[in-house]
Amino acid sequence: MTVRMVSTRDAAKTAYSYTDALLKGLAEDGGLFVPEEFPRFTNEELPALKNAPYADIAYAVKKRLIAGAIPDSVLRRLIDDAYAANVFAAEHGEIAPVKQIDAGLFVQNLSLGPTASFKDMAMQLLSRETAYELARRKEELAILGATSGDTGSAAEAAFKDRAGIKLFMLSPEKGMSDFQLAQMGALSGGNICNISVRGRFDDCQDLVKTLKSDAQFASLGAVNSINWARISSQIPYYFSGYLRIAREVGEPIDFAVPSGNFGNVLSGYYAKVMGLPIRRLIVATNENNVLHKLITTGNYEAAPARVTSSPSMDISKASNYERLVFDVFDADASKTTRYMREFAESGRVSLADYGLTTDAFTERGFVSGTSSHADRLRTMRYVYERSGTIIDPHTADGVHAARELADENAPIVCLATALPVKFEHTIQEALSFIPPRPQRFASLEMKIKDDAFLTIDADVDELKKILRARLSKN
Ligand SMILES: *Cc1c(COP(=O)(O)O)cnc(C)c1O
Repeated sequence: MTVRMVSTRDAAKTAYSYTDALLKGLAEDGGLFVPEEFPRFTNEELPALKNAPYADIAYAVKKRLIAGAIPDSVLRRLIDDAYAANVFAAEHGEIAPVKQIDAGLFVQNLSLGPTASFKDMAMQLLSRETAYELARRKEELAILGATSGDTGSAAEAAFKDRAGIKLFMLSPEKGMSDFQLAQMGALSGGNICNISVRGRFDDCQDLVKTLKSDAQFASLGAVNSINWARISSQIPYYFSGYLRIAREVGEPIDFAVPSGNFGNVLSGYYAKVMGLPIRRLIVATNENNVLHKLITTGNYEAAPARVTSSPSMDISKASNYERLVFDVFDADASKTTRYMREFAESGRVSLADYGLTTDAFTERGFVSGTSSHADRLRTMRYVYERSGTIIDPHTADGVHAARELADENAPIVCLATALPVKFEHTIQEALSFIPPRPQRFASLEMKIKDDAFLTIDADVDELKKILRARLSKN
């Protein structure tokens, strides 16, 4: 089977390949790329993966989604290279280990990569796929991204020194943790350019959008979670966590997912569509609970994001939600376009006005929860006292929602989306001590280069000037 990629806003359903979607990021009509049809695993095929190493599971899943757009033998090599011992600090040989923290409650650690957040899981593979495809096409690519913390360092670590690629990363001048700043600072130089914006994360994201809509810069690549390669590279760890717990505890299984841009939990939904019998997907939010309100009321309303102690989930609108909209509208691109346009114009939109209720979400397994700062601290303490495990504030949002929604009928796996070391201050507030630092981050702050960040106003002309200057020289 070939897998044709289509845009969520293209009623004509023009077909793209996986690698087109990989290099473009966003479709020209402003829509997001999705497979026209998902490959499925049968009940007979899943048990064969039960004891398989992570790379084998990743290969089995991605091979079906890429369907030859990258040759299977190449894909296998890229996957083995991405999930290798010199990239991920595997525990007992496991890239994404699962650990019990309470009765019926497990944590799957996705943060053993070079920058200590789950974003490494997808970014390490995406960067290799991108470099391979560019070399094959004899092309080069400039990528522009915006980060509130974790995307920046994960992308930079993944693209550092890759031939044919220049990466420009915008970040807000204030708002990142010291550790996150140090991570990006240490990676600057060569093909990596850090640009600090006098403004907030939303200003950075607006700059990216404005520039992408300018013909001269339209070919810039994207590595945030709207890129289908990110979403598709996150599907395998749901298979890996599920099969592991199914083997030890039984089925079905729920997942709890700390959510911001809706990319991670959407990958879980696609795993379900591909035949993994996940029961519920618990969308966990913090005080910025746009997604929680959406799932419980059917109303999607942008709200200015405020800064919380789980900052990577501080979003005012969730870009990947458009993919779910397309799904609940049965792949009707015109209806999806109308819905997204209404949202863009008025900042709010209601599912009821499009003939659907919140059943559209619950039928697909989505439920949701929300936490406050106090909930996070209490949850971190609870988990530490119960199991001796230190969880980061984002994971705490997930565990909090999981505990509220738990029932007798299914164990819950909560995805651990960052290591505690990234958020030392909040851990200290919760547990009264600073979490031990993994050796590989020991002297991180010493590695920052003096001119690690260029600083600009939130002004598109200033940004264009920098890009023009850097893109003209080789
Ligand atoms: C990016 C991020 C999230 C949110 O993930 P989405 O895919 O945007 O929903 C949650 N936790 C951490 C630590 C992150 O870095």
